Amino acid sequence: MSPSSLNPTLSLTVDLDALAHNYRVLRDAAGGAEVAPVVKADGYGLGASACARRLWAEGAKSFYVARLTEGEALRADLGPDSVIYVLDGVTPGAASRLAAAGLTPVLSSLAQLDEWRASAATSRLKAALHIDTGMNRLGLRPEEARALSADRLADIDLLLTHLACADAPAHPLNEAQRSLFAETCTALPKARATLANTAAVFLGSTYTLDQVRPGIGLYGGGPLGVPDARLKAVATLEAAILQVRTVPPGESIGYGADFVATHPMQVAILAAGYADGVLRSFSPGGYACLAGERRPLLGRVSMDLIAIDVTGCDAAVPGAMVELLGANVAVDDAAALAGTSAYELLTRLGSRAERRYVGALG
Ligand SMILES: *Cc1c(COP(=O)(O)O)cnc(C)c1O
Repeated sequence: MSPSSLNPTLSLTVDLDALAHNYRVLRDAAGGAEVAPVVKADGYGLGASACARRLWAEGAKSFYVARLTEGEALRADLGPDSVIYVLDGVTPGAASRLAAAGLTPVLSSLAQLDEWRASAATSRLKAALHIDTGMNRLGLRPEEARALSADRLADIDLLLTHLACADAPAHPLNEAQRSLFAETCTALPKARATLANTAAVFLGSTYTLDQVRPGIGLYGGGPLGVPDARLKAVATLEAAILQVRTVPPGESIGYGADFVATHPMQVAILAAGYADGVLRSFSPGGYACLAGERRPLLGRVSMDLIAIDVTGCDAAVPGAMVELLGANVAVDDAAALAGTSAYELLTRLGSRAERRYVGALG
């Protein structure tokens, strides 16, 4: 049998039409602001290349990555006409490579600003300036930014800040950061402004400014950390049943013998484990979906295997595919059950699954 005729035991399906749908939802919510998709961390684990190409075809012109190497790879995928922002900024030695790939750094310190000015003097490449309005992560303090001369800001055409609590709409820091950013922007020469991640897009029109930077919402994660009916699931993780067995009462399942059957149980063993991003903390409490029904995980998640309860389920036969993430197991629900976020869950989806794309690239 040729490898291509072998069905994968673990597949990650990425629905590019769902991605495009989510892009349009965010675009509509953003009013007239430019939507600049964030495709860092390999497109939140789903493939930066394919996701960015489809989003480009949908009309996105600017993209965000975190690392220089991510930007270089994306430049090769998208060609010369897109704007690619690198959130790490100008790290030591990076200026010439940023310039060579036509990448736009998001500068986060006075030292970075001066390094870019020195290296961009000949190329006149633009940059964005990160202003920290209360998160104390990356960026100049507002008073540092306000003290800059127009000359030192000559290459800056975008001002950026990031909210600490956008997924908690009532948190007072949102409005405090928004107004501090607005104040700081007016003190600086004309540049466009961007503030909103996915959650902040939904905080209202005072947050969307000139450009928004959604990530998680594009990939199907809700802005508030719970499933959002407006957004579609983009990732579907499915594992094959390797074996179905009957476990008699009193016997245990998996490492540590944590789970003990109290009645005769039909148990399916699936070809997925924590090495594939099914977190150990997803059991107990987590579930998979087979034939439209939720099936609880039993015992500990192993590196390559997990067990689910399929008692009374005729569809549970070796080779049948079971959903671990997707339309029936929402990424936000699975993340909550595992004690983490949709962000961490998606970016942990291992490289071992066979990744498949449905929907057109462009
Ligand atoms: C990751 C990131 C985003 C995207 O945030 P989401 O919550 O995924 O929409 C936007 N801006 C910055 C600066 C980021 O680091």
